[in-house]
Amino acid sequence: MKETMTSQLAIELEDKYGAHNYHPLPVVLSKGEGAKVWDVEGKEYFDFLSAYSAVNQGHCNPKIISALIDQAKILTLTSRAFYNDTLGVYEKFATTFFGYDKILPMNTGAEGDETALKLCRKWAYTKKGVPENQAKIIVCENNFHGRTITVISMSTDPDSRGGFGPFTPGFITIPYNDIPALEKALEDPNVAGFLVEPIQGEAGVFVPDDGYLSKAYALCKAKNVLFIADEVQTGIARTGKLLACDHENVRPDILILGKALSGGVYPISAVLADDEIMLCIKPGEHGSTFGGNPMAARVAVAALEVVKEEDLAGKAEYLGKIFRAEMSKLIEETTLVKKVRGKGLLNAIIVNDTEDSQTAWNICMKMAENGVLAKPTHGNIIRFAPPLVITEDQLYDAISRIKKSILSFC
Ligand code: PLP
Repeated sequence: MKETMTSQLAIELEDKYGAHNYHPLPVVLSKGEGAKVWDVEGKEYFDFLSAYSAVNQGHCNPKIISALIDQAKILTLTSRAFYNDTLGVYEKFATTFFGYDKILPMNTGAEGDETALKLCRKWAYTKKGVPENQAKIIVCENNFHGRTITVISMSTDPDSRGGFGPFTPGFITIPYNDIPALEKALEDPNVAGFLVEPIQGEAGVFVPDDGYLSKAYALCKAKNVLFIADEVQTGIARTGKLLACDHENVRPDILILGKALSGGVYPISAVLADDEIMLCIKPGEHGSTFGGNPMAARVAVAALEVVKEEDLAGKAEYLGKIFRAEMSKLIEETTLVKKVRGKGLLNAIIVNDTEDSQTAWNICMKMAENGVLAKPTHGNIIRFAPPLVITEDQLYDAISRIKKSILSFC
């Protein structure tokens, strides 16, 4: 007999049968539409996480879901052992959309980052003339690029790394938002690339100084080093432009995308670059069974069309200003909110407590009670990233619930 699902049962099942590699808020979701989600008991929430910015186009976006269902009935997977009739169409569409010669399709963000690292190293040996096995890639403190062994080898977060060594060599770590440190690291002739998040999302929506990206790009160019942007979280309209690098007119040599490339309906990531770089990888040197499969190809085209048709970048820019202005009032009204920062609809508040405190978690629990879902990135930082399809009325409604929740702690 089928058990009736309740929040309590769902949590017990995950706890008993699933690995304990996450610490979710105790909310069990069973339905989503646009900017809203509903739990098993039917309670309605505004989703202010958007699956870490994967659901930019809104939950169950009808156009994307139709593409998924249509393609699922025809052909789902061929592997890249054969051609299929959707991949090339997607590749042409996406390269035109983002302005690159070539795209390499993968599935998850971490795989996208791994792909970019391999591509950068291969370029260093075949084009730049770095001696074999000597290539180095500069990364930033407090980065987040995923969870694979090589990706955590670049991390400075003890939770990500602790107990998982030995690590992959070949990285130089410098502070984020520090041009002199980059300049110094670039003196090493074996440096092949600089991998950077245009805004550090997981670190707590850390926005670098204006001009950081463009200066970093210019320094990389001067040393024949590839500028690699991880736009897995910041890309696809989230920050008020198609790419966060667009705010500084920087065109990365290698661009990594994920998350919202599918509108959150399917794991799709991609690396984009021009021929000079992308053609360094030859047949058999990299790949993935599911990367670029027909479903992914159809879904990604639909997801990108939605971004353009609904001007999601423009919406994020406009609504983000309202959000930050409204939330900033809390800095004057309370002693709890210390700072509001972000770009477009990728924002965070920093509360007046220590990094390892429970305050952000407790506020998130209260917000959930009041119908808004968000998650702390640290004990004192809460990220706010609703689907970009949220309406202005919905945003004001959510803001008043967020304020009410925060004020209950003052
Ligand atoms: N890169 C960035 C900037 C991210 O924010 C994330 C995930 O949050 C990743 C990479 C990893 O993506 P995935 O979880 O799909 O592997």
